[in-house]
Amino acid sequence: MFDSLQDGLRSAFKTLRGQGRLTEANMREGLKMVENALLEADVSYTVVKDFMKDVSDKAIGQDVLKSLKPEQQLVGIVQESLVDILGGDSDPSLHLKPDVTVLMMCGLQGAGKTTTCGKLARLIGQEGKKALLVAADLQRPAAVHQLHVVGESVDTLVYSEEGASDPIAVCQNAVKHARDNGIDVVILDTAGRLAIDEELMNQLKTIDLKVQPDQVYLVVDGMTGQDAVNSAKAFNDALELDGVMMTKLDGDARGGALLSVKHVTGVPIKFIGVSEHMDGLEPFHPDRMASRILG
Ligand code: GDP
Repeated sequence: MFDSLQDGLRSAFKTLRGQGRLTEANMREGLKMVENALLEADVSYTVVKDFMKDVSDKAIGQDVLKSLKPEQQLVGIVQESLVDILGGDSDPSLHLKPDVTVLMMCGLQGAGKTTTCGKLARLIGQEGKKALLVAADLQRPAAVHQLHVVGESVDTLVYSEEGASDPIAVCQNAVKHARDNGIDVVILDTAGRLAIDEELMNQLKTIDLKVQPDQVYLVVDGMTGQDAVNSAKAFNDALELDGVMMTKLDGDARGGALLSVKHVTGVPIKFIGVSEHMDGLEPFHPDRMASRILG
C-alpha cells in the first residue's frame, strides 16, 4: 500500500536536498511534486487542494530553523498536514458502556463487512469482553451461514433466527438476548447490496431508529478509491456515522480513499483491515499512519 505515494513524496523531498534554506522558489518544485504524488494516489481533488494550501501556508510562514535543513523542514510540514487530513487526534476507541454496547455495521456487498464484524468480535474478546454477532442480513440466505462460520472462527456467539424475514425484529430480539445473557457488545451485521439504493438505506435507517445502536460504522473497501469516499458520504448523509472501517489495505490500494474520507465526510477512520484473516484489523491512528506514509 502507498508505494507510489511514498516514492512520489520521497522524490519531492529530494529536490530540496543540499539547499541552504527553504525559500518560495526552491519549495515550488517540491510542492508541485507532492501535489502530483497525492493526485496519482487517487486522493480526492478537494483534499489535495486544501492539503497543498495548508502545506504552502505553513512552509512560507515558517521561520528558517537553523537546526533543520529545508528537506527536513518540508517533511515535518507534510507530516503535520497528513496527520490533520487523516483525522488529527481522533482515537479508535469503541467507547464501550458498562452494560451492553450495540454497534451497527453497514456496508456495500463485498466491502468486507461480515469479515470485519468477526475481526471486531475477536478484538473485543481479547479485551476480556463478550461479544454477540447478529445475523441481520436477511437479503442473502448465505449471509447468515457465513456469519456462523465467522463466529465460530473467532469463538464468538452468533444470534440468528431461522426463517426470519424482519431484520429489525432480529436486532431487537438480539439486544434483549444480550441484556439477559451478560453480553457486553452486540455487533449487528446488517444487509449489504451491490449499490446504494433507497430500499437499503430505508432499512438501515429504520434499524437505526428502532434499535438505537450506540455507534454506527461503515465498512468500505479501500481498493475502490473514490467509490469508497462516495459511499461514505452517502451513508453518512443517511445515518450519521460514528466511524469508517476501511478494508483491504494490505493489497495494492493506492491509499487515496484513506487520505480523503475524513476530510470529505467529516467521519473519522477507526479501524483498518490489513488481511483477509481474522487477526487483520488494526486500530487507526492518524499520526502513526502519517509516519508510515513518510517511511
Ligand atoms: P461483505 O459482503 O461486506 O460482508 O464482505 P465479506 O466480509 O464477505 O468480504 C468480502 C471479501 O473480502 C472476502 O473474500 C474477505 O475475505 C475479503 N476481505 C475482507 N476484509 C479484507 C481485508 O482487510 N483484506 C483482504 N485482503 N481481504 C479482505
